[in-house]
Amino acid sequence: MSSIAENIAAVKRRMADACARAGRNPAEVKLVAVSKMVPLDRIAEGARAGLKILGENYVQEALEKIRALDEPGISWHFIGHLQSNKAKMVVEGFDLVHTVDRRSLAKELDRRARQHGRILPVLLQVNVGQEETKSGTSSEELGSLFQYVSSLDALRVRGLMTLPPFLDDPQEVRPYFRHLRHLLEQLREKASSPEDLTELSMGMSHDFEVAIEEGATLIRVGTALFGSRPT
Ligand SMILES: *Cc1c(COP(=O)(O)O)cnc(C)c1O
Repeated sequence: MSSIAENIAAVKRRMADACARAGRNPAEVKLVAVSKMVPLDRIAEGARAGLKILGENYVQEALEKIRALDEPGISWHFIGHLQSNKAKMVVEGFDLVHTVDRRSLAKELDRRARQHGRILPVLLQVNVGQEETKSGTSSEELGSLFQYVSSLDALRVRGLMTLPPFLDDPQEVRPYFRHLRHLLEQLREKASSPEDLTELSMGMSHDFEVAIEEGATLIRVGTALFGSRPT
């Protein structure tokens, strides 16, 4: 099995190649290392090998790691489905929430962020494949969710996130990524601070190169860095 440092180098090379194909500046694309179910010593190894952003799906598991990881300069992103009753913990532990998908959640995050005296940057999650099993607002309701979240004092919408249908051929995922980029462009046209709307969180281990070609600024990669997770 290859080391995490080797995996990071390989993923970075693939990111650079995808940027070159798309004529993009590699500095525009950030790697979110998805560390759900990865033990702390492997995460620490990854941090020492240069990982800067860690993505977690489960609040309780993540907070234990956030408290225990003794590596400087790490930013934590929440990327899982979020229940409103966990909003307080997320506000206390995370730098960016990728998965705001409904008003009730946004309202609770805003309340907790104000209590905590901070501004919380968020992304709005869109269910681009209209899959029953997946969270996310529909494309049609995105505009209204955006208006609402923008009206909340302690939240700042920084962009959009999606978890598209899993398709074996990453090329077949391309239209979903492109759709998310178009949705962001439409929001920018209506927004009062379009310069805040910069982020597109899309692409995972098996399709991040296509996502980068379609404009991703945050790719969420787990398996390609840490190996397969226990099921
Ligand atoms: C687990 C997960 C990932 C990472 O998936 P890999 O295929 O292991 O790269 C990315 N995004 C979300 C939302 C996830 O839950």
